[in-house]
Amino acid sequence: MNKKTIKDIDIYDKKVLVRVDFNVPVIDGKITDDNRIVEALPTINYLLEKGASVILMSHLGRPEGKPDKKYSLEIVSKRLQELLPNNKVIMATDVTGKDAKGKAKKLQMGEVLLLENLRFDAREEENDKDFCKELASLAEVYVNDAFGTAHRKHASTYGVAKLLPNAIGFLIAKELDVIVGTINNPKRPFVGILGGAKVKDKIGIIDSLLNTVDSLIIGGGMAYTFLSAMGYNIGNSLFDKDNVETAKNLMKKAEEKGVKFLLPIDFVETPDFNDVVNYRNTKDQNISEGYEGVDIGKKTIKLFSKEIKKAKTVIWNGPVGVFEKKEFAVGTYAIAKKLTKVKGTTIIGGGDSASAVINMNLADKMTHISTGGGASLKLFEGKILPGVDVIDNI
Ligand code: AMP
Repeated sequence: MNKKTIKDIDIYDKKVLVRVDFNVPVIDGKITDDNRIVEALPTINYLLEKGASVILMSHLGRPEGKPDKKYSLEIVSKRLQELLPNNKVIMATDVTGKDAKGKAKKLQMGEVLLLENLRFDAREEENDKDFCKELASLAEVYVNDAFGTAHRKHASTYGVAKLLPNAIGFLIAKELDVIVGTINNPKRPFVGILGGAKVKDKIGIIDSLLNTVDSLIIGGGMAYTFLSAMGYNIGNSLFDKDNVETAKNLMKKAEEKGVKFLLPIDFVETPDFNDVVNYRNTKDQNISEGYEGVDIGKKTIKLFSKEIKKAKTVIWNGPVGVFEKKEFAVGTYAIAKKLTKVKGTTIIGGGDSASAVINMNLADKMTHISTGGGASLKLFEGKILPGVDVIDNI
């Protein structure tokens, strides 16, 4: 990688502004998973050990451009203080206002200041020039370590980087090394597994993976548009009528490239998405009238498992069923379990497939679980992330 990392820049006695991804799940005022905070610690600790003072900035939830107590990062600052017992963690009550400016100015070597939620200011997502300047004025160096938002061109992930000496942190560096390194040089057979709801969101990635994988497994709500294009009945299942032709073209491309394109051969169907009583396994690819497909079926689990077993490299993004309901999570969990048996590299794109793996306590059995769903998908697709692109080359 040719981008500067924090090891390549001068940080001693400097105020370093770090974009982190502290967008943690909060339920009833409690952080239910602090993994994103923990993942940022190597960079924060390194900067502190090398004599910097650290100003952290993140978003949390979707407060829609104005302050909203529900999305305050206060709760994160408390957790961070527990994780950094030897350093003082200070919370600012605003983003670039009087409080943040005053506290940033007074910040001492070895101290940490956490700014309030970036999305309390609408200018963040607009990559507003003045907001970028206000952020930059707080510090002397900029570091991006928020992999989860590195595919966004926001003020804190993009614009501000142009105004200060800059680098990426250890988390982004690790994500790039593992994901890009694997995709560019996979051990074969290389199997891609894609699930999730919509074909529309995954066209780019299917198209580009067809240039590199040996097999592509398709599950989830996306599968029905492909099956419909092949003439099967899909009942009330998810269907993307605008992309039927695209689905046909992608299958044609797979054939031309000699890529095995694996679609489900049976499903779990139910009369209604929320009906977890009257569900049943279909006989074949066809969904009954008045039913919708909500998970891959038993024969499909076997078929997909066989393909996964042969792989030396697997990348996976998206659940193969409505995994939020345990009755329809069987396929997704079976895939996760099978991945633990792969004798090679297993990379889980963030988001739902990562949650499934973590819920099953299988995280330590995978090579890499990405901390960013959208960002890892972009890397799977061979795209460059704006939040990385903007960083200076070595
Ligand atoms: P995505 O964000 O595109 O990865 O989609 C994830 C969502 O796809 C999850 O919320 C799943 O419940 C949903 N999903 C997966 N399979 C199906 C299906 N067969 N029908 C409807 N939704 C599905």
